[in-house]
Amino acid sequence: MGKITLHDKTFKPFISYSEIEKAIGQVADKLNKDFENSDDIPILLCTLNGAIMFTSELMKRLNFISELVTIKLSSYSGTESTGQVSQVIGLTTDVKDRRVIVVEDIVDTGTTIVALKQFLQAQGAREIRICTLLLKPDSYHGNVKLDYVAMEIPNDFIVGFGLDYDNLGRSFKDIYVLDSDSIQKKHMKYFILFGPPGAGKGTQASAMVENFHLCHLSTGDLLRKEMAAGSELGLKAKALINAGELVPDEIVEGMIENQFNTVTGVDGFLLDGFPRTIAQAEALNGILAKKGEEVTSVVSLMIPDEMIKERISHRAAIEGRADDANEEVIANRIRTYHDKTEPLIAFYKGAGKYNEIDGTGTIEEVRGRIADLMSKY
Ligand code: AMP
Repeated sequence: MGKITLHDKTFKPFISYSEIEKAIGQVADKLNKDFENSDDIPILLCTLNGAIMFTSELMKRLNFISELVTIKLSSYSGTESTGQVSQVIGLTTDVKDRRVIVVEDIVDTGTTIVALKQFLQAQGAREIRICTLLLKPDSYHGNVKLDYVAMEIPNDFIVGFGLDYDNLGRSFKDIYVLDSDSIQKKHMKYFILFGPPGAGKGTQASAMVENFHLCHLSTGDLLRKEMAAGSELGLKAKALINAGELVPDEIVEGMIENQFNTVTGVDGFLLDGFPRTIAQAEALNGILAKKGEEVTSVVSLMIPDEMIKERISHRAAIEGRADDANEEVIANRIRTYHDKTEPLIAFYKGAGKYNEIDGTGTIEEVRGRIADLMSKY
């Protein structure tokens, strides 16, 4: 018994045919005891398609006369139970006043069996007993009594012995379970574009996000949007931003997490202006860990302090940002960077994620250096 592949999924051996046969034998013994000496002929109601193999193996072992009837219900799409039960093929025999033994391949959430029992009751069946090859006790929440259960299994997706994954796999005589090792999660990339104010992070970010199919997440831009919209958050941030102070950690952390959880269709994110404090870096690790992800790499753009002032005043003339226009505010932002943000260099060096790039030179020169570094990941 090796692994099998059906459509896009791999399944590994789980229950061998000999174990299945043994369990069916035990269920058949119970049924024989209960029905051997009855005067009526019970209906054996095989639920198509899954219970085909189970029904045939079971019938071979029954020593009382029964009438085989089939019904086809559906509540599955792919590997997920949809919760809606529909009749694909209806009953061809009148069950009124008859005793019915429902033969199921698997009872999972119970949606199908509950709907089927209700239907049979409505058709006037005298007695309904449920016989299932498999039961997922952790998933079953129905109130229908399961009279005959051959085997209990954990809450995993299985195929074989009549059970399918999107119509394939029914013909295997052993039962297989979804091989979780074979499901490879596609990881997202989380780059941090780091550097002092005016280092050119925003300028370089737009080319990089296009190049590497990332989402540009600038906390400064997000805050400025809030300010322009006059939101409560924007009003709260405005005074701090215009004074060259940082806004509270929780505000930017919430904005970042929200973006991670809502932006789709990209290979990752380029963080610009976040994290700016050790607390934010730790929060970022926590947010990513919850998603099974981690920071990919820190790309640090370094320029000397004199150049910071020069570049910011150049930008002030172009973008008209209030926090770029005032000497004192610029000085405060540089101070804040040295005090609160610079310690992140040691933090990310310690994590083995820190890469420094010379941020001086032309925009194109710096862009080339960043692209070379990022393409390694
Ligand atoms: P920036 O556009 O990155 O220069 O950010 C402009 C201003 O927004 C900063 O000076 C801070 O007042 C505020 N800000 C942006 N990102 C953060 C952050 N991660 N933490 C705290 N404040 C931030």
